[in-house]
Amino acid sequence: MKRFSIKARVTVWYTVFMLLLAGSLLALLFLMSEGLSQRRLRMQLKDAVADTVADVHFRYGNLNTEDLDFYKNGVSLFIYDTSGYLLAPKVNLGVQVDSLLQDQTARTLRTASGGQMVYDVYATDGSTPFWVRGIVSLEGSVQIYGLLRFLVLGAFPFFILLVALGGYQVTKRAFRPIGQMAETADRITSGNDLSQRIDTGSSQDELGRLGATMNRMLARLQDSFETERQFTSDVSHELRTPLSVIRSQCEYGLSEAAGERERQEALASIARQANRMNAMVSQLLFLSRADRGAFSLEKKELDLSGLVEGCAMDLMPAAEARGLSLQTDIAPGLRISGDETMLLRLVDNLLTNAIRYNREGGSICLSLEQTPEGHIRLSVRDTGIGIRKEDLPRIWNRFYRADPSRHSEGTGLGLSMVKWIAEAHGGTVSADSVYGEGSCFTVLL
Ligand code: ADP
Repeated sequence: MKRFSIKARVTVWYTVFMLLLAGSLLALLFLMSEGLSQRRLRMQLKDAVADTVADVHFRYGNLNTEDLDFYKNGVSLFIYDTSGYLLAPKVNLGVQVDSLLQDQTARTLRTASGGQMVYDVYATDGSTPFWVRGIVSLEGSVQIYGLLRFLVLGAFPFFILLVALGGYQVTKRAFRPIGQMAETADRITSGNDLSQRIDTGSSQDELGRLGATMNRMLARLQDSFETERQFTSDVSHELRTPLSVIRSQCEYGLSEAAGERERQEALASIARQANRMNAMVSQLLFLSRADRGAFSLEKKELDLSGLVEGCAMDLMPAAEARGLSLQTDIAPGLRISGDETMLLRLVDNLLTNAIRYNREGGSICLSLEQTPEGHIRLSVRDTGIGIRKEDLPRIWNRFYRADPSRHSEGTGLGLSMVKWIAEAHGGTVSADSVYGEGSCFTVLL
């Protein structure tokens, strides 16, 4: 059975079921109607025979046939003497049967023309004994046989054929989306094209919903493949720049033309690029582990105010080196359950950006406070170059750098990490900026 299609199996199953159901209904109908009609005939027969028995009279040993009616209500009646000799009627009606007389036993005799029911009664009139026999044709039952034969041989096969064909069509139509799904899956596999979708039409049934779910799954798969592809190309692109700088600096340092000072500068440049690559690789490792869910926060109760303060102190020299003023407004004693290393990385990234993308003589304001709703708000405001409105939504993307030609030190991964860390702590991060005036990054925990 397994090698047949589901359509064929379903059709066969319910056709057989319909066959059995309709067959048993027909049989039941036949038995019931035959039982009823036989009972009715038996009653007619007995009544007619009983009436005739009451009407039979003998005068001087001879049967008086004047008042007798030999055909009553479909029943043919015959009167015999005790030796089985037919007394009346004298005319052969063609319905007589040569069966032994049996007192008060209704019985059915099947004949080529359908059959008869016979009923005999032994009675006496005065001192003269006699038999009355009633015979009724079973034509009523024969009609039911005829109807049944018509149903079984004519209408029933037609009905079953109709059920099978109609059912097959409905099943075929219902299973069509599955065929389309298989075809789409084949096309995706052979053409390696995830942009293909299953045509579900306007169908809202189970298969329509399955098709829609598969389309959503395909869209997600396509999305993640695209991201993966983009990510790989970004990584190779980002690593190519420092690698080519390192190669050219090596070539220059090794060349005869380079003096001692130039060699030192080449080595310093190589060291810078190596550091940048190192930072990028460790950030990438962090993000890929975070993506895989392999990164679990080591949360503990910690003094956030102290942590932010410490970070600001650490970066103070870097700010001063660029002529920037770093002011802090940190509410004391704010505590949080979080991962210390991660939160340090978050504050450090925001402050480093505020220093890196600031302008000569600019300022940075770092604040930490509790909001009236009970959240903790960390803001880093700078008076730097700012971010264009159209760039704002993209700064959280990996490798996105608004102006890489002006600031070559960055990797474009810092804000992605900041976002991940804030969200991993159940918080959010947002940015506001006026291009050319400054930016403000706010983390709400
Ligand atoms: P990067 O390593 O390049 O700093 P980030 O992910 O930290 O990477 O930042 C992405 C981009 O967002 C930066 O290249 C820069 O263009 C922009 N950006 C981030 N912080 C600031 C800021 N404080 N002021 C202006 N631009 C910023």
